[in-house]
Amino acid sequence: MSEKRWIKWWYPLLAVVFLAIVALAGQEDTEITEAPALPPVLVIDPGHGGADGGAVAADGTTESGINLDIALRLRALARFWGVETVMTRESEDISYPDSAGSIAAKKVADQHARVGLVNNTPGAVLLSIHQNNYPAAAPHGIQVFYGKTDGGRELAEIAQGNLTALLCPDNRRLAVPIDRDIYLMKNVNCPAVLVECGFLSNPGDLDHLKTDTYRMELAAVLLGSYLQYTRGTVT
Ligand SMILES: [Zn+2]
Repeated sequence: MSEKRWIKWWYPLLAVVFLAIVALAGQEDTEITEAPALPPVLVIDPGHGGADGGAVAADGTTESGINLDIALRLRALARFWGVETVMTRESEDISYPDSAGSIAAKKVADQHARVGLVNNTPGAVLLSIHQNNYPAAAPHGIQVFYGKTDGGRELAEIAQGNLTALLCPDNRRLAVPIDRDIYLMKNVNCPAVLVECGFLSNPGDLDHLKTDTYRMELAAVLLGSYLQYTRGTVT
């Protein structure tokens, strides 16, 4: 999908409204206890891609495509806001080393490359975008996870609070430490959060996630949360 196709004239206005709401909400109840020492760089990681499509919905919608679309919208908004960004991938195509023959080897090589990119980006703040999936259809909602590095918990709590308040007010999920063995989250040395934007296995979430508007809303709230988190060190 080209960027021009979905950047409609009113999207920046939608973003401004969301960011204003996020900023106002943050004035009252957000305590920023830790922020990166270097000028921050938003590293956007659209989960999966290439040989790894991630989760697949019952209608065939793949996680990797949704992740990438939200990530590209987030980057476009971030640029609009003057935020420096790095992407771990920009398309569904990933080039692998010749030595990576199997899909498992390709995934490992890709994860190693992403960790290298993040850890070689001074001031990196990692925001990894994923979609959840579950054997039953009932579970739904957004959940933010954080890695063990400093700052992740603060960013995750800001993002979870904003996402819940603005996009799914009856969501009961809280920001929690990541308990799964995700190589990227375990091996980066910067503040790191992973956002599960919704459940592909839940019809309501899936309907939302397939719309341009909801993806843009997710991107806007994620950018607003990042700005709240980094506000103290943005120059
Ligand atoms: Zn995923």
